[in-house]
Amino acid sequence: MKVLVVGGAGYIGSQMVKQLTHAGDSVVVLDNLSTGFRELARYCELVVGDLADPLLLERLFRKHDFDGVMHFAAHSLVGESMQDPGKYYRNNVSNTLNLLEAMVRHDVKYFIFSSTAATFGEPEYVPIDEVHSQRPINPYGASKLMVERMLQDFHTAHGLSSVSLRYFNACGADPEGEIGECHDPETHLIPLILQAASGRRKSITVFGRDYPTEDGTCIRDYIHIEDLCSAHAQALEALILGHKQGALAFNLGNGKGYSVQQVIEAVQLVVAEDGCNLMIEEGERRPGDPAKLVADASLAKRELGWQPQYADLETIVRHAWAWEKQRASLVK
Ligand code: UDP
Repeated sequence: MKVLVVGGAGYIGSQMVKQLTHAGDSVVVLDNLSTGFRELARYCELVVGDLADPLLLERLFRKHDFDGVMHFAAHSLVGESMQDPGKYYRNNVSNTLNLLEAMVRHDVKYFIFSSTAATFGEPEYVPIDEVHSQRPINPYGASKLMVERMLQDFHTAHGLSSVSLRYFNACGADPEGEIGECHDPETHLIPLILQAASGRRKSITVFGRDYPTEDGTCIRDYIHIEDLCSAHAQALEALILGHKQGALAFNLGNGKGYSVQQVIEAVQLVVAEDGCNLMIEEGERRPGDPAKLVADASLAKRELGWQPQYADLETIVRHAWAWEKQRASLVK
């Protein structure tokens, strides 16, 4: 297969590229390097450019005969989306529309989209399945839901088949240690705890211990990036082989939630092996955080044959810690 991976120099996109190239697929990455890194896209051809540039897209689709497109390039910070919604609607919606229109012009029929659990909004029940109502409570979630909606219309009008994959909490790192998280600013729980353990950060703050959960901290469904990527590969294959068509959507998580406290304890066990420990501070609730978000991913398992390989929290933390140790030694 020849695949265009948009955002293939980022945290999850670069892991995807690695998986695809290892499986023998030919990959071209389009990335504006706004949050991605050139060295993470070293496994394939990298085109540095932006989806806002229709001429660049035209040249790219003329030059390559893509079998399918995977789209990872988006802004993804909930808080930032509340402050600057235009940034989110422009990049996540309008730029994605440019991409879809280029695909239609060049008769590329298969699209895999990075969507999010944030499209659901406040959970009405957990685990969250695909029939749960989608009422996003921030522009980030709304921007992703708008694309899901566009994909339905593009299927009806143009026969473009797509799979939207709604990630719960993406985490972990390349099991071989070549790829991992390096956001700036970092806002995610696991890398922040690991940075506190490696000494790159003073402490980790727990955002609230008064939630209606067993230990009072929020519960999330942490899903390894390698498992997210295998779902993308299986989804694209299902479309290309004609096993699936339409505008489909699947939730991706392990179906098991861990509290912030449990994640901290898992990290403490792993980093203690290297003689590291961490300082924990108590903070207020972070606005907009639901108490519990857990995926029901049984549909993806049934329909795509997907099976997470790294569901175990300790394994996730070990991979992320190996990556953090490399980063910390580079920065120090
Ligand atoms: N969290 C925390 N301290 C931090 C960062 C996150 O207690 O410094 C909590 C956050 O409130 C949430 C969970 O960790 O309950 C996961 O947050 P993250 O930002 O990693 O992902 P989200 O669930 O917001 O997508």
